[in-house]
Amino acid sequence: AHVKNPPPAIDGNALVSMCLSRVGIDRMFGVVGIPVTSLANRALALGVRFIAFHNEQSAGYAASAYGYLTGRPGVLLTVSGPGCVHGLAGLSNAAANAWPMILISGSSDQSLIGRGDFQELDQVAAVKPFSKFSAKATDITEIPKSVFSVVDWAVAGRPGGTYLDLPTDVLHQTVDESEAERLIAEALKSRDKALIEKPRIDNSKIKKAVELLRSAQRPLIVFGKGAAYAKSENELTKLVESTGIPFLPTPMGKGLLSDKHELAATAARSLAIGKCDVALVVGARLNWLLHFGEPPKWSKDVKFIIVDVCEEEIELRKPFSGILGDATEVVGMIHKEIKDDPFCLGKTHPWVEAVRNKGKDNVAKMEVQLSKVVVPFNFLTPMKIIRDAILGVGSPAPVVVSEGANTMDVGRSVLVQTEPRTRLDAGTWGTMGVGLGYCIAAAVASPDRLVVAVEGDSGFGFSAMEVETLVRYQLPVVVIVFNNGGVYGGDRRNPDEITGPYKDDPAPTSFVPGAAYHILIEAFGGKGYLAGTPDELKSALAESFSARKPAVINVTIDPYAGAESGRLQHKN
Ligand code: ADP
Repeated sequence: AHVKNPPPAIDGNALVSMCLSRVGIDRMFGVVGIPVTSLANRALALGVRFIAFHNEQSAGYAASAYGYLTGRPGVLLTVSGPGCVHGLAGLSNAAANAWPMILISGSSDQSLIGRGDFQELDQVAAVKPFSKFSAKATDITEIPKSVFSVVDWAVAGRPGGTYLDLPTDVLHQTVDESEAERLIAEALKSRDKALIEKPRIDNSKIKKAVELLRSAQRPLIVFGKGAAYAKSENELTKLVESTGIPFLPTPMGKGLLSDKHELAATAARSLAIGKCDVALVVGARLNWLLHFGEPPKWSKDVKFIIVDVCEEEIELRKPFSGILGDATEVVGMIHKEIKDDPFCLGKTHPWVEAVRNKGKDNVAKMEVQLSKVVVPFNFLTPMKIIRDAILGVGSPAPVVVSEGANTMDVGRSVLVQTEPRTRLDAGTWGTMGVGLGYCIAAAVASPDRLVVAVEGDSGFGFSAMEVETLVRYQLPVVVIVFNNGGVYGGDRRNPDEITGPYKDDPAPTSFVPGAAYHILIEAFGGKGYLAGTPDELKSALAESFSARKPAVINVTIDPYAGAESGRLQHKN
């Protein structure tokens, strides 16, 4: 006789995967092991792509950037104890950058807590400084509610990192399928709506902002990666173009409006921030990257209008006016309010002209430097060649990942961003070692785009083994390593000061000279290039950009070019 199989039991790992996929999580980054290997496999079976890394640090950086690029929280899956600790790098980076991400870690058996179980750690306490919210499922029935709350908290208000703790014993509990569905439905119903709602925008503040902009002599629109995250490009473009107000992006705000736009103040940054009298700041913090909004970089009389989704941010900066709300909505409302009684500075307005002329001047000076062919390479000669190759790709523009001291500084002013969210760099925290993780996130988030990393040999080294991950998933990523043989480059110490028993050791800033990073990727079947001349670099770029396969271009840079600590020498 035909025997009916009992309905399959759903264990904790399967239930977590079901819940993630139910709320639209379709990508995960991580390193598997006890007790979460089957979570990754279950997720894969449900259509959630799992990108397996070598190190949780790099996977965490990927998850954070994925959250930024897509607006959906990036998920990092780790094992217990040390896996969770390695994941803190990504979680803290998400917090600093205000990017949505979820760290999910297995943890040890609840009945063994305090007795020295395998990989035991109080993980909820460990993640506390870096997460907005955490949930521990202490029983399988708590899984759906816990999953949905970490998802909702990650994107609520100012985005950031959240944490989900999954004890081994809970992952091994089971429920039957109908019970699983009932738990999911119940938890979906009781999701906290307040978390998902956007703040109501105060219309009187919109009117006040418009009056300020209208009466300003030297207005400026500044936007940052919060506006990029909010996908405000269309609203910002309308506002800038209808009013003729010059704009200044922060490094990752670059591309919301093209760097080539005639109202771009990027090349006249010092003049723009030093002389503007009203600055509309959208999704950017007045932190170190914007010189705290204070003299001497800014005029002491500048009136700031800050648009931010985070109330504490507005309170902290004490601007002339603060508008709480989503960047896209607020900018849209400002534009609408202006449309009723339009104003436009026009091309011949003295402020617009001053910014444009200064920008042209600076660009011309930079081009003179860039057109000098210096071999052995300084930073500028290869950067110009790379800039032109990236621009040559056209649309969709490549995502540029940039890190390193001099490489990132030079890259920021030379590389051109023409499309939104196409630049990822060391960010608010100045985090080095993010490069490979960001490349993988970008390739997974936008499969139609080429990804090009332009990074120093030191930044590359943090997670160089992830080139194997590039090859394994055949991601269209070209990693260009500016190889000057160390952190900042060659040994810059005064020989008279090198004394003591270890005086013959290599300098703390130095790596093996001439390291063959291009051969590293070939060990896994990727393509490597060594480039020390303009022709070698051009041909490597042309070939690797059209192949759209994992490649490393090892660019030999003069170890004494560039400065220690790059642009931040005064802080060293
Ligand atoms: P940048 O480094 O580009 O200057 P920051 O990370 O310092 O940018 O600032 C981004 C700001 O944007 C944060 O204060 C964050 O709260 C805010 N933000 C995030 N999402 C939104 C949004 N949807 N609308 C408005 N502001 C946002």
